[in-house]
Amino acid sequence: MKVTAIDLGLPRVVQEPSKTDTAARPDTPGLVDSFGRVATDLRVSLTDKCNLRCTYCMPADGLDWMPDEQLLSDAELLRLMRIAVEMLGITDIRLTGGEPLLRPRLEDLVAEITSLHPRPRVAMTTNGIGFAKRAKRFAEAGLDRINVSLDTVDRETFQRVTRRDRLSHVLAALAAAREVGLDPVKINAVLIRGVNEHEVTSLLRFTLEHGYHLRFIEQMPLDAQHSWDRANMITADEILSMLRTEFTLTPSTEARGGAPAERWIVDGGVGDVGVIASVTRPFCAACDRTRLTADGAIRSCLFSQAETDLRALLRGGADDDEIADAWRATMWAKLAGHEINDAGFAQPLRPMSSIGG
Ligand code: SAM
Ligand code: SF4
Repeated sequence: MKVTAIDLGLPRVVQEPSKTDTAARPDTPGLVDSFGRVATDLRVSLTDKCNLRCTYCMPADGLDWMPDEQLLSDAELLRLMRIAVEMLGITDIRLTGGEPLLRPRLEDLVAEITSLHPRPRVAMTTNGIGFAKRAKRFAEAGLDRINVSLDTVDRETFQRVTRRDRLSHVLAALAAAREVGLDPVKINAVLIRGVNEHEVTSLLRFTLEHGYHLRFIEQMPLDAQHSWDRANMITADEILSMLRTEFTLTPSTEARGGAPAERWIVDGGVGDVGVIASVTRPFCAACDRTRLTADGAIRSCLFSQAETDLRALLRGGADDDEIADAWRATMWAKLAGHEINDAGFAQPLRPMSSIGG
């Protein structure tokens, strides 16, 4: 397999499946790794492009987007998702990006994914821009759930965080998602010190008022401009103590499974709040995810330094079994954890917007 390059001005790291040591891998169809975890949740990045410029994600000028010919076509994406569902045991597919709503004909793609057998649950993580007027079509196509990213309910702060004046579009997306019956409607929020941390309680108040479900995500070293600074990151402990100034939080007793968020019941049951503490309380031991980038690379982890180029296999005429085997080998080689807290940690070459968050 040849080593190619992605268009971020960065080398495309490719791991050749044939060279991965799979001798000890049990003969099982699923995406098992050498630590006994089984991936059943596929995150698919549909594009690296975005119409916002969140400061913790990408620079003001955006990035050099992948050229169209490098992106998987709908037919290629569907073939990989079919292999994942039919041959590899994937039960959940989350569409993300970049901004997934920028992918043309996305409603049709969702309808095709929900027609796969066995039918996977289909979710989307989106900034919500343009979703409101398409919400009904997505619901009809079978979209099950949505996570909308919203870091503030204040218009000026929204502009500071995303560098765009689009708060009203995101609020409309949330309302439309609820209106068409998507359940739950979740909000993902990232806090930035000195910018929106003071909004932690107003965000929770807003979500409780509307019946949404809020998840705070600790900022991770995955921004394209490599400006993440541990000292500046707002930790789960800080988030919880800020919330406790106004709310009573009781740990949820529901089994967490592979879910990344630790959950708390708010004020005895008026709602809940979650914190995804990827940095300070890593949940790698329970990870059940595998990732497909918009240009056809499989990654076993957000923080992987290596990935497998399935696009080359697809376009080189490989059959389904060869593709499935390459996917299995990639996941078998998954590391125990992301190593953010180790001295030798190196940020992956791809930023979050190119991997799919
Ligand atoms: N554009 C869509 C959105 O914003 O929802 C999907 C892609 S975005 C990369 C997915 C999620 O990753 C968003 O909730 C975003 O807030 C989060 N995110 C982006 N950069 C992050 C970072 N450096 N650390 C933690 N979360 C991040
Ligand atoms: Fe775009 Fe999502 Fe990144 Fe914000 S977090 S810049 S919306 S990809």
